Amino acid sequence: MRKKFSNILAPTDLSEAAHAGVQAAFDLVSEGGKVIVLHVIDDIPLTYGYVGMSIPDPQVVARLMKGAEEELEACIPPHPPGIEVTEKVLTGNPFEVIVRLASEEEVDLVVMGTHGRSGLKHALIGSVTEKTIRRSPCPVLVIPPTAQPGSEEGETR
Ligand code: ATP
Ligand code: MN
Repeated sequence: MRKKFSNILAPTDLSEAAHAGVQAAFDLVSEGGKVIVLHVIDDIPLTYGYVGMSIPDPQVVARLMKGAEEELEACIPPHPPGIEVTEKVLTGNPFEVIVRLASEEEVDLVVMGTHGRSGLKHALIGSVTEKTIRRSPCPVLVIPPTAQPGSEEGETR
């Protein structure tokens, strides 16, 4: 079957649960297509500027960005050489950055995990996923983590 998505945005919080979404993006992209893998840093510690305003410390931000870039690189699954991969680390509110990039890059599809790092068992989907679905300019495909046999997620009732 010819795959039709040629420009996919795959946001990840670098957790195991989000990885299912990144993998699915690579499974779905068409030959010669592009996957943008995005991590948004949202918990930047603030320091105090001399006018009494809290500001992010540029050195701390640089260190966080570098660490995230390395982790993001490590999440890229094996893929055919024809697939173009763009890795991006940005700062801000995750869902706002995801929606803005989806629109700027005119992606066909956003693929993301139902859950991320906090993975609250009783919430149907994570808050970043929910807000992205509400505001996205394109379809959003939501991927659950692989259910482990015997785990709560594997139960059907
Ligand atoms: P919570 O609502 O408590 O954060 P959660 O962490 O389980 O719950 P989400 O944060 O919504 O759930 O994560 C769901 C998906 O959203 C992730 O699999 C990932 O695709 C995306 N996502 C979440 N946070 C980020 C982030 N900081 N950068 C990029 N993508 C993110
Ligand atoms: Mn989260």
